[in-house]
Amino acid sequence: MDRAKITYEQLLSENEELRLQLEEANDTVEAIRTGQVDALIVNNGEGHQIYTLKTADQTYRVFIEKMNEGAVTINHEGIILYSNTRFAMMVNLPLEKTIGLQFNLFIPEIFREAFDRLISNAWNEDCKEEIELISSAERLVPCLLSCNTLELDEGTALSLILTDLTVLKDAEKQLKIKNLQLAAAHMVTEKLNNQLEDTVKERTNELFLSREHFKFLANNIPQMTWTNLPNGEIDYFNQQWYAYTGLGTDESKGLGWQKAIHPDDLALTLQRYQLAIKTGTALEMENRYKRGGDGVYRWHLNRAVPLKNEMGAIVFWVGTATDIEDQKKEMEKRDEFIGIASHELKTPLTSLKGYLQLMGTYQKEELPHRITQYIEKANKALNKLQSLINDLLDVSKIQAGKLEYAFSTVNISELIRVCIENAVHIYPDNIFINEDGSEYLVNGNPERLEQVLMNLINNAVKYSHGNKKVIIKTTRHEHRVRVSVIDFGIGLSTDQKQRIFERFYRVEDKKHLTSGLGMGLYISTDIIHNHRGQIGVESELGKGAVFYFELPLIEQKGES
Ligand code: ADP
Repeated sequence: MDRAKITYEQLLSENEELRLQLEEANDTVEAIRTGQVDALIVNNGEGHQIYTLKTADQTYRVFIEKMNEGAVTINHEGIILYSNTRFAMMVNLPLEKTIGLQFNLFIPEIFREAFDRLISNAWNEDCKEEIELISSAERLVPCLLSCNTLELDEGTALSLILTDLTVLKDAEKQLKIKNLQLAAAHMVTEKLNNQLEDTVKERTNELFLSREHFKFLANNIPQMTWTNLPNGEIDYFNQQWYAYTGLGTDESKGLGWQKAIHPDDLALTLQRYQLAIKTGTALEMENRYKRGGDGVYRWHLNRAVPLKNEMGAIVFWVGTATDIEDQKKEMEKRDEFIGIASHELKTPLTSLKGYLQLMGTYQKEELPHRITQYIEKANKALNKLQSLINDLLDVSKIQAGKLEYAFSTVNISELIRVCIENAVHIYPDNIFINEDGSEYLVNGNPERLEQVLMNLINNAVKYSHGNKKVIIKTTRHEHRVRVSVIDFGIGLSTDQKQRIFERFYRVEDKKHLTSGLGMGLYISTDIIHNHRGQIGVESELGKGAVFYFELPLIEQKGES
């Protein structure tokens, strides 16, 4: 018919007929899908052709409909006779639109020729192949295509089962990536491992060298040396140890080393070692070691220092014993000399004082003014000399353990008053502030305690260099009274604080030269210890100092 001459009514009726045909076709598809009918009519251009499904059993079709694979039946021309919903979803079309289409339309153009060959082969034998299906403009779905021939009443058809491989391919891809990452990580690990091995080798070598180095050093110093584990157990002695003590390796092991210590020094040695290990602090003490060769005991200076790791935990201790016998003998000789010399000096000094006193008894007018001035100056110098000689005598008495004195009740407030009076007299330019709180009574020797307090006040003035204020203060600390002498002078560093109570120790200060022999604090310490008290200092360099001593109080009635 000439399409140009078609009337509107004719078009309407044609349209209506097509609509009815579509409805019919949809109903047919739905009927087949749900298993209500078992035949299909296809218009293949040369008129309608009817296909009957051989196993038109409903259970089977429902099963096909529900399965996860795409299922398609095509005829020899490649036209889709049947498709399940899953296939329609795979190619992104409504189900009714897939039926009647050429199947190879869903194959990308470049693979189409190969695909057609595959299908023509599939009519002869069942086969499986991976293909890609066009899902939408942007997306291809990788599938496993499985082809089987189907015998229908109308002839043979080809059943195509399509398994979506997207997830599998993605997983494969991910796996590939992970494998690559794993391989890269493996390579890095291997590299690190090799580096680590090299480092370990290097360190082992270094350790070996440093151990050898340590042993070489330890065996070539004159001191006896050993190392202890953190718990104190000795795990190494140098050759000097074995040579001096005459003890063998087995004899020295465990507690064997104690055999080398003088029996009188053993208890104190053990006590000091145990304390050092418990507190993790360095030890320094003197004791006597028996020389294996002749059984003679010689004085040694013992030192044990802990070696700590970055976490502060002790790794091991290094101990040394240095022979100080000869120095000790020298010191004894020096002490003896000081003792004799100060004693010898005392007699002429007393005579000198006596003569000066006699001269002083002359009527003032009988002597020229200049002479009285000289007598006064000589007296001052003599007093200084006397105090120096007294200190020297005290030191040698302390050394000989002979500094003795009688005890009585001492009023600390009274003691402070007397000392401040003296100080004001000696140092008229200084300001002494008495911050004494209340009456404290102690058991002690008034002269010796005065000597201690005067020494602290003298030092406070001596080491203040221009700062005139000195405070004397008392405070109670439980059953003790603390007397503090506070100055605002040069102060002391931590190192200096640790050493100033030693005999003859003086801080070297090239800027401010002050006279003294470094005996005052040593004597004061001995006196305070003999009073069952404590002496100490709190100070910072450049910020003044607080020297103090503490003494046990005589408890008053009613006090706890
Ligand atoms: P001396 O004063 O005769 O040197 P001491 O035994 O009294 O001897 O003191 C020892 C050292 O302690 C002094 O040489 C000094 O360096 C230091 N010292 C003592 N008292 C003070 C103080 N108040 N301020 C700063 N340093 C002090």
